[in-house]
Amino acid sequence: MTTTANEITYRLEQKRKVQADFPGPKSVALTERRKAVVAGGVASSVPVYAADADGGIIQDVDGNSFIDLGAGIAVTSVGASDPAVVGAVKEAVEHFTHTCFMVTPYEGYIAVAEQLNRLTPGDHEKRTVLFNSGAEAVENAVKVARLATGRDAVVAFDHAYHGRTNLTMALTAKAMPYKTNFGPFAPEVYRMPMSYPFREENPEITGAEAAKRAITMIEKQIGGEQVAAIIIEPIQGEGGFIVPAKGFLPALAAWAKEKGIVFIADEVQSGFCRTGEWFAVNHEGVVPDIITMAKGIAGGMPLSAITGRADLLDAVHPGGLGGTYGGNPVACAAAVAAIGSMEEYDLNRRARHIEELVLGRLRRLQSEVGIIGDVRGRGAMLAIEFVKDGTKDPHADATKAIAAQCLKDGVIILTCGTYGNVIRLLPPLVIGDELLNDALDVLEAAIRAAA
Ligand SMILES: *Cc1c(COP(=O)(O)O)cnc(C)c1O
Repeated sequence: MTTTANEITYRLEQKRKVQADFPGPKSVALTERRKAVVAGGVASSVPVYAADADGGIIQDVDGNSFIDLGAGIAVTSVGASDPAVVGAVKEAVEHFTHTCFMVTPYEGYIAVAEQLNRLTPGDHEKRTVLFNSGAEAVENAVKVARLATGRDAVVAFDHAYHGRTNLTMALTAKAMPYKTNFGPFAPEVYRMPMSYPFREENPEITGAEAAKRAITMIEKQIGGEQVAAIIIEPIQGEGGFIVPAKGFLPALAAWAKEKGIVFIADEVQSGFCRTGEWFAVNHEGVVPDIITMAKGIAGGMPLSAITGRADLLDAVHPGGLGGTYGGNPVACAAAVAAIGSMEEYDLNRRARHIEELVLGRLRRLQSEVGIIGDVRGRGAMLAIEFVKDGTKDPHADATKAIAAQCLKDGVIILTCGTYGNVIRLLPPLVIGDELLNDALDVLEAAIRAAA
C-alpha cells in the first residue's frame, strides 16, 4: 500500500513515469510475436503490453507507468485490481469455474440479479438475465422486445454504437471500422435523427422538439404500432459522448409507452456510476422498460446483463434465453464485489467530483484555444470535440495528434466520434486527484501545442 486518496488504497505507486523511447524491448518483442499469430483486424491503441494495473496506473512489461484515462473502455471503474474484486474472484474460482447456469444453477447468478433489480431505475417488478458481452445483452433485449410485442421493427439513432455482432452492427451507425464490408445486416432496423446539441442546424431546438422530429419520422416511415423497440444510449459512447438535449429522452420514453413500444436504454458504457448516477437515465428520471449493462459491471470480468419489466422478460418461453457461459460464476462473484466497492467508495460522488475537476479546467481552456468546439459529458464520461479554428468543421487530425502526444507523455487517452474528432475521458473512478491533474496537465499541453 503506497498511497491513499479518499479512503481508496493503492498497490502500485500512483505516478506517471515513462521512458522517452518506449515501447521498450519486451513490448517490441511481443509486437513481433503478435504479428505472426494475431489477426490484423484486431487493433490496439497503444504499442505497449500490460503487466500490472491498479487505481489510475497501467504498468507495462518494460516498467513504464501510464496514467489510464480509458479504464479499458469504461470497464475498470473500481480499478483493474480492486482488492474486493480480486478476493471474490479467488474465492469463487477455488470452488468452481463453471457449471453452466442452464444446467446446474448457483447462487451468484441470483445475487447479481438481486443487485441489478435493486439498482436499476423504477420500483416495478423486474427480472434479469446475464450474458457475456454488451453486444449479447443488446441482442437479447431486442429478442425479448420482439417476442413480447409481436412486432419486428427496431429504432436506433444516428451516431449509435451497440456492438459488433450481426444485429448490433445493424443497430450501429458508423460504417468504418464497424460495418464496412461485413454485411448484409439484420433487417427491420430503422435509424432516426439524434439530439446532438453541438451539431444541430437550429441551435435553439429543444430536447422535446428533437424527440418530436424523430417521432414524426417513425410515424411516417414505420408506423408507431409496428415498432417493437426503441434502443438508445442515454449518453452516446463510441459516437462521440453525445449528451442529448434535456427533455429528449423523457419525450421519447413517454411516446414509446403510449404506443406499447419497448424502450431499451443501452447503458453498457454509461452505467455503474460512470456519469455520477447508477445509470445515465437517472439524470432525467427516465425509467426504461429494459436496460442493457456490461462494461462497468464486474470490475473487469466479462459479464453483461439485461434487466427489465417482469411482464416482458417472463413472456419468453423457458429455454428461450441463455447461453453456455452467461453469468459465469467467477464473473458473478466479481460483479457482487464490484458493486459493493462502488457503494463503499461512493463512486457516484467520486464521478461527480471528477466532472467538477475536469470540466472546470477544460472550459477554461476552451475559452483560450480555438480548436475546442465543445466540452461535454456527465460525471467521469467527459469529452472534448475538436474543430478547425473558428468553425464547426471536425478536426480529426488535431484529435489524433493530441491523443498521440498524450500517449508519448505517458497518458492513455481514447478518441471517438462519428467524425473521429472527439477525445473521451473515462478514467477509473478510483483515480486520485493528483494523478488526474497530472494527466490533465499533459492533455492541456498537447491541446495548446496542436492549437
Ligand atoms: C461497448 C458497447 C457495446 C458492446 O459491448 P461489447 O461488450 O463490446 O460487446 C454496446 N453498447 C454500448 C453503448 C457500448 O458502449
